[in-house]
Formats: sequence, C-alpha cells, structure tokens
Amino acid sequence: MVAAASVTGLVTWARSLVRSRCLGRRLSLSGPRPEEATIPVNRSLNDHGNGLRRGARGGGGDGGSLVAGRGSGAAAAAVAVAPAPALSAMQRGSPERELEVAAEEAEEAEEEQLSVDAGAAGEPESPAREEQPKAVLPVPARPRAAEEGDVHVARRLPPALPQAPPRPAARALCQLAKGRSRSRGRGRYRRGSGSSRPVTVDSSKARTSLDALKISLRQLRWKEFPFGRRLPCDIYWHGVSFRDSDILSGQVNKFPGMTEMVRKITLSRALRIMQNLFPDEYNFYPRSWILPEEFQLFVTEVRMVKDGDPTWKPTFIVKPDSGCQGDGIYLIKDPNDIRMTGTLQNRPAVVQEYICKPLLIDKLKFDIRLYVLLKSLEPLEIYIAKDGLSRFCTEPYHEPSPQNLHHVFMHLTNYSLNIHSSKFVHSDSASTGSKRTFSSILCRLSSKGIDIKKVWSDIISLVIKTVIALTPELKVFYQSDIPTGRPGPTCFQILGFDILLMKNLKPMLLEVNANPSMRIEHEYELSPGVFENIPSLVDEEVKVAVIRDTLRLMNPLKKKEMQSQHPGKPFAGKEDPDCDVTGDPDSNPEAHLPSICLKQVFPKYAKQFNYLRLVDRMANLFIRFLGIKGTMKLGPTGFRTFIRNCKLSSSSLSMAAVDILYIDITRRWNSMALDQRDSGMCLQAFVEAFFFLAQRKFKLLPLHEQVASLIDLCEYHLSLLDEKRLVCGRGRRPPSSPQETNPTTQSAAGSPAPRIIGANKLSHSRHALS
Ligand code: ADP
Repeated sequence: MVAAASVTGLVTWARSLVRSRCLGRRLSLSGPRPEEATIPVNRSLNDHGNGLRRGARGGGGDGGSLVAGRGSGAAAAAVAVAPAPALSAMQRGSPERELEVAAEEAEEAEEEQLSVDAGAAGEPESPAREEQPKAVLPVPARPRAAEEGDVHVARRLPPALPQAPPRPAARALCQLAKGRSRSRGRGRYRRGSGSSRPVTVDSSKARTSLDALKISLRQLRWKEFPFGRRLPCDIYWHGVSFRDSDILSGQVNKFPGMTEMVRKITLSRALRIMQNLFPDEYNFYPRSWILPEEFQLFVTEVRMVKDGDPTWKPTFIVKPDSGCQGDGIYLIKDPNDIRMTGTLQNRPAVVQEYICKPLLIDKLKFDIRLYVLLKSLEPLEIYIAKDGLSRFCTEPYHEPSPQNLHHVFMHLTNYSLNIHSSKFVHSDSASTGSKRTFSSILCRLSSKGIDIKKVWSDIISLVIKTVIALTPELKVFYQSDIPTGRPGPTCFQILGFDILLMKNLKPMLLEVNANPSMRIEHEYELSPGVFENIPSLVDEEVKVAVIRDTLRLMNPLKKKEMQSQHPGKPFAGKEDPDCDVTGDPDSNPEAHLPSICLKQVFPKYAKQFNYLRLVDRMANLFIRFLGIKGTMKLGPTGFRTFIRNCKLSSSSLSMAAVDILYIDITRRWNSMALDQRDSGMCLQAFVEAFFFLAQRKFKLLPLHEQVASLIDLCEYHLSLLDEKRLVCGRGRRPPSSPQETNPTTQSAAGSPAPRIIGANKLSHSRHALS
C-alpha cells in the first residue's frame, strides 16, 4: 500500500487502521434515527433554472447532460421519508426513556464503584434501539453523497427486497471485521491505571456521522449515550450545528457560527479582506464576485482585463450561496450569460474564475477532501488529518469550450453527481476507482518524481491561512453565543477542506465544509430506485481515523490527568513525544490504537503565520466595544467610544465625521446582509471603517502596514487606559512611556508599544474562547 514520505512526515497510508466491526450489507439503516424526519426533496433535474440536465445513472449519461441537479432516473422522484416509527421511544420522558435513564444511573453508580468493563462500553449500548423495528418505506430512494455537505435526505428502502450476493469489497470487509472483532480485547478501566471511568459521549444528534462515531467509540472503549443522557456527558457529538441543543458544559464538536462562516459568500468575503491585505499570501482562492450585488463590478472588471489582453478567454463558475453537492452550479464564458432572472435574484451566488488547468490523473479531473480539526479558537489550535479523499470526475477532462461547458461529469468532481455516471467505479481499494485516498494520489505523484513535500507544505499553508481568515468572525459568534461568565461548552470542529491541485501542483481552495459527510457506506443501486447500503472501505479507512483521533485529542479525562501529572504542560495526545504510546495497556489505555492521524500545524507553525492575524486583532478591538452581552453588532455609541478610547479623533476627524462614517458604512453593509434582524455595525463593516481610518492616518504605506500601525496604536492606548484603571484601583503610578508598558499585563487586545511597521504578534483576547 502507500507509504509516501512528505515534508512534514504527514503522508502515511496506515493500512493497519483498525476497523472494529463489519457494517455488513443491509437494506436499510439499522433502527430509526431521530433526525431522519420527513424531508421532501425536489429531484427535478431542472430545478435550478440552469437548463443543464444530468443523465440518469447507468442510463448512458456519459458526457451527458449536465448541471447539477439531483436525482437519477426513477430514483429522481421525490423522496419522502417517514419519521421512524419508534421515535417516541427516544424522546425524553417516555417510559422507555425513563427505563433507559434508570439503567444508565445504575450503571454509572457501578462505574463509580471501581471498574467498568470497557468492552461492554463498546457493545450495542441500547437494546431498545436494536429492538426497534426497522423503518422501511416503499418509496424510491436516491444515492447519497458520502463526503459532501451534510446530507439532508434520509431514506428507507422497501422491505423484503431480495438480498443480493455481497460484492467482493463488502465481503472482504466483513471477514476482516469479523476477525478483528474476535480478537478485540475487552480491557478494563482500573483505578490508578489511567482513567477510572470511560469518557461519556452523547451521540443522540450524530446523524449521518453515527456509524463512524460508533466504531470510533468502540475502538476507544468509551461510553456512548445514543439517546442522550440526563446527567451531563463529557462530549456531545452533533451532526449539523452548534445550535442543535442547549449544552451547558462539556465539549461539543461544533462552533457557533461555523456554518454561516463557511457559506460561499461569507467565505469569499472573509478571504477577500485577507486578499486585500496580503494579495500574495492569499492567491490560493480564485477571484470571486458576489451576486447579485457585484454583478456590475464583475462585468466591468472582466471587460477591463479583456481589453488589456484580447487573448484572455476566461471561464467562470457560478455557485449558489447555499448550495452543496454541486447543486445549481453552471459554467459560463461571458458575464452576460449569468442567469439574472428567476432564481438568482432570490438566491445569492458567487461567480468565480474557473480553474481551467487542473492536475489530471488518468486524464480525469479530481479534487481533494482534507479533514481539518479546529481544536480551539483561543489559543488557535489547528490539526490536519494525514490522509484525505480524492474524488474523481468520470469523463475525461478537456479545457472548457462552449461545446463541453455543460458536461458535469467532466468539470465537477462532486461524488454525489458522478455516482450517477455509468463510468463511476466504486473503489475496492485505496488507490483505484472514483474515490481514492489522497495518500494514494501522493504516492503516485511521488513515483513520477514530483516533490510531494512541497505539495503538502503548500496545502498546510493554505489551511492555516484559511482558518486565520475565518477566526475573527468566529470569535464574534462565540462571544455572542457563549458570553464570558455564562455556562457553556467548549467547542471543537472537524472541517472539510475541498482543494483542487492545479497542473503546476499549486493547491487552490474550492470551499470549506462545516459538516463534512462522515458516512462510511455508499448506496448500491440494485434496480432503479432500489438501493442498499454497503460499506465503503475508503471512506471508513479515512473517516473513522479522523473521528477517533479527534476524540483522542479532545479526551477530557486525559487532559485532566496530564495536567495533574505535568502542571503547565499542554496536552498533545500521542504527538507529544513524552506521551507514553506503547507498552502496558494498563498504564496506557491507548496502547491498542494506531498512532494519531491528526498532525498539529498551529501553533506549531505560528511564527510563520502570526503576521497575517491582523483582522483577528481588529476583532478583539471590536468585541471589546460591543458592550451588551450576546450582541454581534456595534452600536453608534460603541463606535464612538472606540474612537475616543483609542484617541483616533483629531482636528481632521471630528466626532461628527466619525458618526457619518459609522452611518455610511453600517447602512451599506446592512443592506447587503442576509440576516437583517440586528441593527448596528457588523465586524466586516468595522474592518472597512478601520481600513479607512488606517489609510487616512498612515498614508503612503502598503495597506497591511497602515492597518498594523493603527492596530498597534489602538492597542497601545487601550493598554494605557487599562493600566490607568488598574492603578486607580491600586493607587500606583501609570507608566510614563510606552516602553514601561509590561507586555505580560496586556489588556484585552494585547498592546505592546506602537510601532509603525509589522504586525507579527498574537493578540490576546479577554477570555479564552475554547
Ligand atoms: P458544492 O458545495 O456545491 O460542492 P463547490 O464549490 O465544491 O460547490 O464546487 C463543486 C465542484 O465544482 C468542485 O468539487 C469542483 O470540482 C468544481 N469547481 C468549483 N469551483 C471551481 C473552480 N473555481 N475552478 C474549477 N473547478 C471548480
């Protein structure tokens, strides 16, 4: 199998990853899931107004017809899934639930006594769930994506379908898993040998990541609560968003605001701010315009470039803001081909330069799905999974031409689309088929003499820079949802980065997914409209490792243990060289697990990237002046106070001018906002105002230096103010010069003495964000 070296030592195909159970073939998901409520889905191929139809799966649709809609042949009919019959049994307060709670409590009391059979924690936790009748509906279903945006559709298959003989991959996996499950040890948790109790995980809202989560928990020998728990759990695993429920403690695998932040428009805006500040560093995101508001700008800019270079024959890709899985996407050659009528006015979109020269393998375009763990916002901690997935087109690639613009199987790499091509090949191994591991691609590139270390380090850099662009607004969301002093969970999140390698091997960011699909099975169409779930070896290999190792890194008990053994030392999981990863399972409960597949990249490479965190420091200023807990917008008084406290008004900038600046910018941003409930200045409007002030004050410098200088100045004045307040409280003399300001007693925004150039320091927020 693959064993590719890499710059950072990231690339190893861990064949030995443990899959602990056989998913087996099944005709419907085992047992009802609360989230799989009825969702009617319009499967019309034309429902995006793009006029591009997609061929039905197996219907000779190659090269066919395109654009992204959903559905296939008979399966393209509307899918409606009935709520699970036994749903009520899952609801708190039902007799079954009461029984379960009582059983849990008894079990917990037992756990407290001394030791718990760790193996038992891995057995089916809830007999009630296993016994629930399988929910089956005689409705046609459609294949679903295994790693695109979170799946909105649940489906059930007709009862009593004839069992087809297992396909070789499924059979092999079953045998593998059977062997593994027989040899799986049933370790015990003992006092004094690591944890005295297993970590508890609420998986009741795991949705489509449930299967992978269950396997991970079994491997970890942690305790799953599939229907939730009356007592608090250590970790809550949510399938969709932070707002899924009110959690007051523990850790949850979603950040507030992440879904909003990675929508195509918001992401494009956040990256554009960074492109304005650091054009060379942020050239990994295609030039993008937001529709409909920037349509004229788009037309004008394209015309200007064309006038300057008549040989330039660009292609653009139009993507609806809220779309996923290739939905509603189409390619155009001319700005006037954008469909302004109908859907676009009501459905904002991003139009982007199309990358015409992607790297091809076997003449096919492919993209990369990489998993990134945002472990904490403050301090910023980022991990990247050592392996990801590569999703292939199913029709040989040719550069866009008017004749092939609508060939979806040639231009769009979405699994959910290409699975409908008759040329789609289900992967039986990591390095073949239409979905492969990324490490297998790197191995292949390496064998051709390509410097894959450089590819990896470029990807790492892209990921860190993208997260740096997202964090400022995430902090604003965070302080709004979990204000300081109020109870709330700490957060972490797995993100799915979609990356395209260009022919020259430069990685380009396509999008970030807040809810990357963690499905480990794919559907196999037995006959039109009739599907069965079969395990997907490649998905399981990659995704179970990502979930399991995320949990290991977040392990609250280990963190506590490490902290008590080595106070002041950060917990780094198995990546910590001092962490005992081998030997006696009693002293190391993770001894049976493979090494961690997530590699820390930040703060590891902080020194190289901290200078980019200017907007982050602006966000700290913004948050400081927000005032009311829970708000995300700055009122006029807050803005005035900011100007006054930072001493930014002068004879050339009166407070009246400040008010006009506030009103002008705020009004414009609010007219563009999708959510117009809150009035006031949003962070992005504040950033624009800040740029304006910086340009006025520090003329002639490049923009990032103007901005850095103004931030320094603001932070300096605020630190003086804080010192003064401190001194008034303690009766001490305030520092008389900037040099006397002690950087270790920095204020909210962190504020060393002002300097004119450079900004390579971390800001310190008032409170830890996670
Ligand atoms: P969605 O969320 O609907 O999947 P994406 O932004 O991921 O939207 O785009 C879908 C597919 O379109 C990508 O997987 C990729 O194959 C292709 N694509 C997207 N943007 C570009 C681009 N700028 N250049 C070339 N191909 C692109």
